[in-house]
Amino acid sequence: MSESNEPISHFIRNRVDADQDQGTYGGKVTTRFPPEPNGYLHFGHAKSIFLNFGLARDYNGICHLRFDDTNPVKEEQAYVDAIREDIDWLGFRDPAHEHFASDYFETLYQGAVSLVKAGLAYVDSQSADEMRANRGTLKEPGTNSPYRERSIEENLDLFTRMRAGEFPDGEHILRAKIDMASPNLNMRDPAIYRIRHAHHHRTGDDWPIYPMYDYAHCVSDAIEGVTHSLCTLEFEDHRPLYDWFIAKLADLGFFERPLPQQIEFSRLNLTYMPLSKRKLIQLVEGGHVDGWDDPRMPTLKGARRRGFTPAGFKLFTDRIGVSKSDSLIDFGVLEDCMRETLNESAERRIGVLDPLKLVLVNFPEDHEETCYAPNHPQKPDWGKREVKLTRELWIERGDFALDPPKKYFRLKPDGEVRLRYGFIIKHVGHDVDEDGQVTCVYAEYDPDTKSGTPGADARKVKGNIHWLSARDAVETEIRQYDRLFNVPAPGARREGDEPDVERDFLDDINPDSIHTLTAYIEAGAANAEPESIYQFERHGYFVADQKEHAPGQRPVFNRAVTLRDSWGQGK
Ligand code: ATP
Ligand code: MG
Repeated sequence: MSESNEPISHFIRNRVDADQDQGTYGGKVTTRFPPEPNGYLHFGHAKSIFLNFGLARDYNGICHLRFDDTNPVKEEQAYVDAIREDIDWLGFRDPAHEHFASDYFETLYQGAVSLVKAGLAYVDSQSADEMRANRGTLKEPGTNSPYRERSIEENLDLFTRMRAGEFPDGEHILRAKIDMASPNLNMRDPAIYRIRHAHHHRTGDDWPIYPMYDYAHCVSDAIEGVTHSLCTLEFEDHRPLYDWFIAKLADLGFFERPLPQQIEFSRLNLTYMPLSKRKLIQLVEGGHVDGWDDPRMPTLKGARRRGFTPAGFKLFTDRIGVSKSDSLIDFGVLEDCMRETLNESAERRIGVLDPLKLVLVNFPEDHEETCYAPNHPQKPDWGKREVKLTRELWIERGDFALDPPKKYFRLKPDGEVRLRYGFIIKHVGHDVDEDGQVTCVYAEYDPDTKSGTPGADARKVKGNIHWLSARDAVETEIRQYDRLFNVPAPGARREGDEPDVERDFLDDINPDSIHTLTAYIEAGAANAEPESIYQFERHGYFVADQKEHAPGQRPVFNRAVTLRDSWGQGK
């Protein structure tokens, strides 16, 4: 995996390199990751986290975690804690560089006062409807507000009284005085502050006015000395405004130059997975999933419970790269990355997911044989563990066929197969119930064929199946997850749809995305700590559930991914 070590070059890295060469920021690289604490982080945020924290790490710089908490009604402390945890989990958090946009409320306010004093901002008293009507359209220029030419004194008086809480919500608004005829709508006298008598999770009732995102974000970047402010493409048209605010404030002596630069990249979109908070909230609130950390959710909390790993996300973000073109990445690419990294990191264990009893008729009742199974087939230094073979075993129902298809190398009537890490066995009989279901298989084992002993390989058989001693295996709940949606683009219109009918993404939910099985696993895995991840041989990667698995109780394992991409081919 060449991806994991060498940083992958992309246009943002090239920009940073150019700044380094030219000494734009005196060799400094400071980025920031600015989540709004109003929801849980999702796979899209992982891309942004690896980009921002990763760049800072690669250039010996700093990445600030800045909670973008300028919107008072929606934010909650619980989200702040959850976001910290997720960034920790990905391996990045640095508490020394954690900030809250709300810490800058006073500076942001003073900046706005300076803009007013410089004649660069004014208090508008139009209604919201009037403002909307006067904004113009993409084709039509806007119309100046009748309040646009208020004197600096009047503006200062009104803005000070807005801050003092004298006016109700919506009565006035502070706007930048730029250009109502600008072809860029963002430059048509955008709002800087609005009145909002709302309680804030950190500043309480101190502020009856709150800064708008476009103002608060660039000013926070400048306050923190951010050099490269990376955001998704939809902010491209906001860049002139980003630059305008900080340039004007720098002219007024608020900041030193050089100023931060905004660079846009394309957001991550995945097939089968909506990545928008608005939609994820609907999934949770509508009861379509079992909370934000449901293993089927594209949240980092869900991913963790699913057995997805930080290493897998790292490989994924390297593999998809960073560009400016919109892209839709197949969910299978993410699963592949999890599979590849888990293949490296997960110890092997045995799990029988669809158990069928097998009795070795010539194996004495009270006898046991100790077999040795490698913990990782490509890593001999990870050692081997003991697995006991006894007279009664569990094998996989699919490993025995009464009426086998061609080239079926597993166990069949009168056939032979090797019990992996054990002996060659030969079928001698079976029981069938009234529905024709096999209920028990009988076989003889050949004591001269034990794996790992001299001469054991003298006789070769094609099939090799896994098994567990019925005496030692532990009954386990296994949850196998399928995709949460049936179609690659949930909610998108499809051929044959009525022209005026909108689709609801919730209609595309896969009603059958979770399968719960009663299986058997090795005692060693059954007693593992929550979040331990194993490969159950021939099946896939499974994680001991973070919440419901506890040593000493009935184990609960979630399937992270299968061994191969078998999706869509039936199971
Ligand atoms: P959503 O669109 O789900 O509401 P958001 O952009 O509102 O997400 P924020 O908490 O504001 O969520 O985002 C924090 C950072 O993560 C921002 O810099 C944003 O650009 C980035 N980000 C969010 N979604 C994606 C995505 N799908 N791909 C890449 N980066 C993303
Ligand atoms: Mg946002």
